This record gives sequence, structure tokens and C-alpha cells, in this order.
Amino acid sequence: MTTTGTHHSIPSPRWVQAYRSALEGNVLVVTGAGVSAESGIPTFRSVDGTGIYESGDWNPIEFLRSDTVFNDPERLWKYYLERFRGAMKGAKPNPGHYALAEFDYFKREAPGEFMLVTQNIDGLHIEAGKEMAEDAADRIFELHGNKQMRCSDECWLRNNNGVAKLYDIPENAQFPEDLTCPDCGSLMRPHVLLFDERYTEELYQSETVQDFATDKADLIITVGCSAVVPVAQILANFVVGRGGTIIDINPADESPLIDLAQESGLRLKGTSGTVLPQLVEFLTTWPPKHT
Ligand code: NAD
Ligand code: ZN
Repeated sequence: MTTTGTHHSIPSPRWVQAYRSALEGNVLVVTGAGVSAESGIPTFRSVDGTGIYESGDWNPIEFLRSDTVFNDPERLWKYYLERFRGAMKGAKPNPGHYALAEFDYFKREAPGEFMLVTQNIDGLHIEAGKEMAEDAADRIFELHGNKQMRCSDECWLRNNNGVAKLYDIPENAQFPEDLTCPDCGSLMRPHVLLFDERYTEELYQSETVQDFATDKADLIITVGCSAVVPVAQILANFVVGRGGTIIDINPADESPLIDLAQESGLRLKGTSGTVLPQLVEFLTTWPPKHT
């Protein structure tokens, strides 16, 4: 990571703005699959061909849709349990997750708010966050769902005041007996946003996330997000449009987010497990230790 602002040099205005926002402003962090790559979970479209998307005989964009939940639930569950749960099995948070947990912990005492939004469903941010602060999950928003399941018939709309009930998926779950709603007997579905589905506040807290970006965030840090899912970019444009700063972390050579960060913020080329711990240390120790 190159960091102007250390070792007696004068910090660039962009770094100064980022430091100030980290210290006393509202901070929004958005993570994609890249942040979990160093935990051994392949990204969807990894260049080396280990991505979940490249692993075989099916086209996820055609298959992972809402009609599959009803037309072919057995196959949906089979793929979900094998490919997704299989890929996440045994994964532990890496130094990138822990750095963000530390940032959250730091912001509890500092002015301004902290929000961590993830597109990942692996639960690793919450796992790392809870080690630092019991209530860390309150500030972590899993925008695409998580490792749990919910009733495909949405019976909670009728019998739980519209609040979705989420259930843990048993280890070695069998279809359909272990995947049936205890409240109404319908089949469950994974609690993840499928390709043709819309973000909703009720299931994914998407309005809360968007409001934070449009009304509050002074600094947005995007980590391991490709442009294929445009969420990070949309949120970043809101923040930058209001005069906020963007920091993007990604080992890739190019992406629209990287362009945006280069034009109007800071682009840190590298993997999140290496860059995030350094970045968080810098941002949470103002004035910079070395000057
Ligand atoms: P993607 O697979 O399309 O892209 C991943 C991005 O991470 C790329 O930009 C890549 O350059 C970057 N990256 C790779 N290694 C990295 C590292 N060590 N540090 C930092 N960045 C790194 O991912 P996406 O657009 O986030 O995924 C599409 C959707 O699939 C998202 O909703 C994503 O969360 C989901 N997904 C989730 C998981 C998970 O829960 N762990 C895994 C794969 C995909
Ligand atoms: Zn039900």
C-alpha cells in the first residue's frame, strides 16, 4: 500500500479528508466476495477459474431465480448446499474482517457512525465483529442475505407481523424433511437474494443502507467488489456526489470502482487481508504517528 502521509511527508488533501472522516465523520464500508477470498472462499468470477460460477454444468444466472424456488426446489437446495455451503464450510474470518471489526470498535467511542454493508452471505463479518463487540451485528448489514433459510410461502407475513423468521440450516440437511417451515409446513428457501429479486427493506434492510449513503456517509470504503453487482458503485456515487471520499481496495487492474477511486478518492491496490489492517491502523491514529 502506498500511503502518502507517513514518514514525515505532508499528507495529500485526499488522505487528510479520509482521516478526518474516519475520525469524526460517518463511515460506510461495502465489501464484496474479495474480502473473503483469503478465508478460502472463492469469489464468483475469480480469474484463476476456481470461482463458484465456473464450477460446472449450470448457469447460475438462469438457475438462481425466484421461479426455481417453486419449480425445482430440490435441485436449488442441492446446488445451494453443495456449492455454496460447501465453499463456506470451515471458513474463518481473515485479517481483513478483523481490521473492519476493529474499525467498528474504534468508532463506538469516536464521533460519527459506522456501517458495514456486505454482499457476502458467509457471516464472517459478524463472526469477527462479535469477538470485538457484542452488539457489532447491529452495524453489519447483509444486503444479499446470509447462511440461514426462511419460509418460501412467507407465512411470517400472516403470523409474525411481517417480520421474517430466519432459521439455521442443519448440518447435513436432508431434502425436504430438514428444510420445512415449522410454522406452516411449506418448504424453506435459502435466505439469499436471487438474480431476479428486488432488494427490500423487510428482508435485506436495503433502504436503511441507501439512506446512510445518500444522507450521512462522509467516507466510503469499498473492498473486493467487482462491477458485476453494481451495489458498491451506486452507493459510492451517492457518497462522492455529496463531496465524500472513496477508498477502494482491490488487487485487480481495472474496474469502474477503481476508476472512480482514482479520479476522486484513493485507490489501494492489493488484497484486503494485507491492505485493510494497514489502512485501519492509519485511519484510526490521527495525527499520523510518524509525523
Ligand atoms: P466477484 O466474484 O464478481 O468479484 C470479486 C472481486 O474481489 C473482484 O473485483 C476481485 O478482483 C476482488 N478480489 C479477489 N481477491 C481479493 C482479495 N484477496 N482482496 C480484495 N479483493 C479481492 O464478486 P462480487 O461482485 O462480490 O460477487 C457477486 C455476488 O456473489 C456478490 O453478491 C457476492 O457477495 C456473492 N458471493 C459471496 C461470497 C461469500 O459469501 N463469501 C462468495 C462469492 C460470491
Ligand atoms: Zn411458513
